[in-house]
Amino acid sequence: MLANDLAELDRAHLIHPVMSWRDHEARGPHVLASGEGAYLTDASGRTLLDGFSGLWCVNVGYGQRSVVAAATEQMMRLPYATGYFGYAAEPSIRLAARLAAHAPGDLDHVFFTLGGSDAIDSVVRFIRFYMHAQGTPERRHVISLARGYHGSSTTGAGITGLPAFHRDSDLPLPWQHHISNPYPYRNPAGPDAGAIVAASLAEFHAKVEEIGADKVAAFFCEPITGSGGIIVPPKGWLPAMREACRALGILFVADEVITGFGRTGPMFACEDEGIVPDMMTVAKGLTSGYVPMGAVLMSDAVYRAIRDGSPEGATIGHGLTYSAHPVSAAVGLAVMDLYEGGLLAQGRRVGAHLARRLSAFADHPLVGEVRGRGMLQGLELVTDKASKAKPDRALGIAGKLAAAGIENRLIFRAFADDMVGFAPPLCCTEDDIDILVARLEATLAAVLDDPEVRAAV
Ligand code: PMP
Repeated sequence: MLANDLAELDRAHLIHPVMSWRDHEARGPHVLASGEGAYLTDASGRTLLDGFSGLWCVNVGYGQRSVVAAATEQMMRLPYATGYFGYAAEPSIRLAARLAAHAPGDLDHVFFTLGGSDAIDSVVRFIRFYMHAQGTPERRHVISLARGYHGSSTTGAGITGLPAFHRDSDLPLPWQHHISNPYPYRNPAGPDAGAIVAASLAEFHAKVEEIGADKVAAFFCEPITGSGGIIVPPKGWLPAMREACRALGILFVADEVITGFGRTGPMFACEDEGIVPDMMTVAKGLTSGYVPMGAVLMSDAVYRAIRDGSPEGATIGHGLTYSAHPVSAAVGLAVMDLYEGGLLAQGRRVGAHLARRLSAFADHPLVGEVRGRGMLQGLELVTDKASKAKPDRALGIAGKLAAAGIENRLIFRAFADDMVGFAPPLCCTEDDIDILVARLEATLAAVLDDPEVRAAV
């Protein structure tokens, strides 16, 4: 089918996620045809470096034959097995055990979902079961970060703090609350780690007080805020929040949907600071996007409390038809083989190279800060470095950047009006990163050459 015909069909029928539908119809789709390693080829035959792993998910890169073979083999053998009524397929059992072995501390129990949003929904349901089992059902309120993203289901979009996900949706729900992100670059009192941690703790305690200490069930956060702007909390923030939650009997939920599976270096970003959450959500890198899958990892303590606190024989009424899907689990196992077989180590090595090379952009007139960890990096854009002025919305800098990126055969994520995000596949080599950096230089130069942008800086 001709690319133009496809574009027309797309405009007429395919609704795209998280976009202005009007803008999308005006621009039309960018149709991708195939991928190999870190490179994608589009319908017009142009090859682009995918600096964003699809949607921060294709951690192992495209075209991994062992992953495709695992899926094919499982589809032939047993394409579906329900987990209901006690049935299970071998890959699902093995993947649960493999995740438990890698996860920090006693996160030994795994409930599989189809992605991140229903993993967050599942956590919320498990929290309710847990609080009832503990005899504290009035603990139903949750607190999360104002720039946090936790999915697009009604529950998850409310736990998300970003206004675009609340608009016209009657969100957040009455039991969902938000506190500010620890945000060194824009912290009014400066980037001092101790001061930021203290301010966060004070805001958290004040929020708990306002809600009522015996009414708060859980605190949700990403170890590094992803979609809200790749905001890295200062060292010590994660353990301080984890301890504050423990002291108050509040469950600590780490959303590792983006940060999991080597994205920041270790298998899970919680390991960077040695914390063990009560529950953890994962997705994306779990199957590297080859097929959909997410999961909730639950501590032994929470699992036992729900198990033992439920009335004898009572059903724990939470399930998904495709929970622990055997094809997804087989893909997950093949992907885990790749991580363990050297890809995690490669991601750590190449991530250090990426961070080093990107740090040079801190001198660029449009760049306020370069930040991130490992293969998760971002550039925050400003039009005045001294005052840290954000680009005016009307400048449309995200759109200009994305377009210039495509011209230079580089895919990244231009988002939140002032962020350029990178999350390359872990299979990238140092040479791929050098190509990324050269293409980014050309992209930023083209945007700076735009007369409107020139006038604004
Ligand atoms: N949590 C986080 C931290 C995410 O980044 C995302 C997706 N970007 C989700 C949850 C939701 O995952 P999904 O899109 O797979 O439903």
